[in-house]
Amino acid sequence: MDSAAVDKIFLAKGRPADNPLIVHLACSTDVSRVAREVPVLARELMQRFWPGPLTLVLPKQKDVPNQVTAGLDTVAVRVPNHSVALELIRLAGVPIAAPSANRSGRPSATTWQAVAEDLEDRIAGIVCGPPTCLGLESTVVDMTSTPPRVLRPGGLSIEEMHSLIPSIQPYSARPELSRESLVNSPGLKHRHYQPRASVMVLDAETLKQSDFVLNSKSRRSHYIGLTHPGNSQAFQTVLVCHDAEEYASRVFDFFRQADLSKADLVCCECVPEVGIGVALMDRLRRASHS
Ligand code: AMP
Ligand code: MG
Repeated sequence: MDSAAVDKIFLAKGRPADNPLIVHLACSTDVSRVAREVPVLARELMQRFWPGPLTLVLPKQKDVPNQVTAGLDTVAVRVPNHSVALELIRLAGVPIAAPSANRSGRPSATTWQAVAEDLEDRIAGIVCGPPTCLGLESTVVDMTSTPPRVLRPGGLSIEEMHSLIPSIQPYSARPELSRESLVNSPGLKHRHYQPRASVMVLDAETLKQSDFVLNSKSRRSHYIGLTHPGNSQAFQTVLVCHDAEEYASRVFDFFRQADLSKADLVCCECVPEVGIGVALMDRLRRASHS
């Protein structure tokens, strides 16, 4: 792997050097190019869920550059489920270290237009294609701990992995409090997913309260959720999604559109923390941190 090229990723994104990158492969048989050991459970997960939104943290081969792993002795690896990404990796002929294509801290890019908005003058080119399907990042699972542990909730739910690994440890909602998890997955401590507008995460009841609506009327407010807010006139834009999957797939673009229209507040309805709802609530909470 080309460590000078990897340095350029950090430079273009303004990404902190201690936030390691995920290495992308064209097929699972390439895993031994970057991982020195692949436990049986990891093989089972790979077989079932690759290509797909599942990243496995494994002991790293020594020739994986330290910049990729932020000095850790492990490497995060996955096979994406996108024909263009797969073709690009195949053509490169090597594993590709690749983060989301946004400026660090901003909402992840889910369209090529969002990539242009954040990085146009900082990168050599953009491969244009349709918007991403899932809209949220991959689920990261640490396969070096026993039992395996979810470090970042994402597109693949823990319920889906339970059938293969009943003992898998769910993501801990306040990982920033645990010293150990910061060392294991340093990316968790950084600011993430934030639009320029403030983000508030509210339940349907609070949204219906009249004083909240009055306050929000004096601001340029936007709303995204699963139910209609009490007083839609208080919002410049109201996006009611059919289900948590649609909400997850649209939320980052919604944040970006709100910024383009100079919003100062985005109100997000909270969702039950099951399935994709775990990852969605994680992103909403992080986006709302000031
Ligand atoms: P992003 O590139 O924004 O999708 O972020 C990659 C995520 O994978 C971050 O949360 C990193 O902390 C995590 N990650 C990458 N490499 C490792 C690793 N070796 N061990 C644990 N977590 C990792
Ligand atoms: Mg990212």
